Amino acid sequence: MNRILVLGAGYAGLTAATILAAHGKRREDVQIAVVNATERFTERLRLHQTASGQQLADLRIPELLKGTGVEFVCGWVTGIDAGARTVRIDDDRVMEYDTLVYALGGVADTAAVPGVDHHAYTFDSVHDAELLAQRLARLGGGTVAVGGSGLTGVEAAAEIAEQHPELQVVLVGRAEPGSMMGPTAKAYLHGALERLGVQVRSGVEIVKVLSDSVELAGGDSIAADVVLWTSGVRVPPLAAAAGLDVDERGRVVTDAALRSVSHPEVYAIGDAAAIRQAYGVMHGTCQSGMPTGVHAAVSIVRALKGKEPKSFRFGYYHTPVSLGRHDAVVQFTRPDNSPRRLSLTGRRAVWYKETVSAAPWPTYGRMKRFPRSGSLWPRGGRFTR
Ligand SMILES: Cc1cc2nc3c(=O)[nH]c(=O)nc-3n(C[C@H](O)[C@H](O)[C@H](O)COP(=O)(O)OP(=O)(O)OC[C@H]3O[C@@H](n4cnc5c(N)ncnc54)[C@H](O)[C@@H]3O)c2cc1C
Repeated sequence: MNRILVLGAGYAGLTAATILAAHGKRREDVQIAVVNATERFTERLRLHQTASGQQLADLRIPELLKGTGVEFVCGWVTGIDAGARTVRIDDDRVMEYDTLVYALGGVADTAAVPGVDHHAYTFDSVHDAELLAQRLARLGGGTVAVGGSGLTGVEAAAEIAEQHPELQVVLVGRAEPGSMMGPTAKAYLHGALERLGVQVRSGVEIVKVLSDSVELAGGDSIAADVVLWTSGVRVPPLAAAAGLDVDERGRVVTDAALRSVSHPEVYAIGDAAAIRQAYGVMHGTCQSGMPTGVHAAVSIVRALKGKEPKSFRFGYYHTPVSLGRHDAVVQFTRPDNSPRRLSLTGRRAVWYKETVSAAPWPTYGRMKRFPRSGSLWPRGGRFTR
């Protein structure tokens, strides 16, 4: 019996699980299980909508996997014994594997700055986003400081400002918002933030978060009733603790086929993996996470047939950014994520962004029935051809 265990049913893990499920149905000698912290699928791409008080669809992973023969385990992974090839769950259950798919994602880095852990809200789970929504609904006025001026910070600031016009939103970070975009898209993004009344404080560093303010390097501070932290990425320490080779951020270092370089029976995908391409190590996105899930699943199926896995190749192709519910900007990119001249703005960008955000769940449904449809998932630009 080949026991395949997928840890994490986010964008990457669920992609791998649904493709494996489709292949597993035709084989008696394959057993597939998926472990995830919640039964509900976390649409991370939409957590800023949850945080600003919008209700999202309740997407249930066990419903999706029904009839596939895949075992779904709702639980928290607490440890991996890479030597014994076992995984421990928080109910003390121990699960054995022959092949492990490590897809536990990442969370905001709340350890980097003192006070974040105690005083800031995050987008680490639906529950965290809901807590922020409840707090914002009770405020009735005041200031929300969004720490981190990357795209998650931008989307959050715009969404909160639009849904809560009674609040002053300040976006605070080192980088200029949209700094990775071309001039047209960047100017549009800044115009939208200004229209929504978001105050931008870029080129500054938050050195401490307090209950009523954020302290900046140089001694200045910004008064804030609520702080949302979106900066940095921290991955679960499980891989490092299990003795897998990890990079300086704790992400599993993979070979070209997405297998751990130290433990080839472990495939690492999504935000939890350090995957090198010609342009450098990939940064975590859903855009790249789903293709890593496709590739890992296809490689596992090849291995079951006695074939060698192929190398994974990915190039970025777009950066879609929502600016509230009625505006958006999409920067099209080269495979290395540098901006092309082409961008979309306004209504066409809103449609594009919504189409992208809504795509994963129906795609899982298709992949579990027609595994080859996974290979149709875009792998990126010219680099992949
Ligand atoms: C607000 C926001 C907006 C974003 N917008 C975009 C966007 O527009 N485009 C884009 O490409 N990317 C976007 N991202 C980034 C994107 O969401 C991530 O890159 C993507 O979710 C990574 O997928 P993943 O499967 O690796 O991890 P995740 O989707 O985070 O999935 C990890 C899963 O593992 C589970 N898990 C973690 N630890 C444990 C444990 N110990 N035990 C059991 N289960 C565990 C989690 O519950 C989760 O289900 C956004 C992120 C945020 C927060």
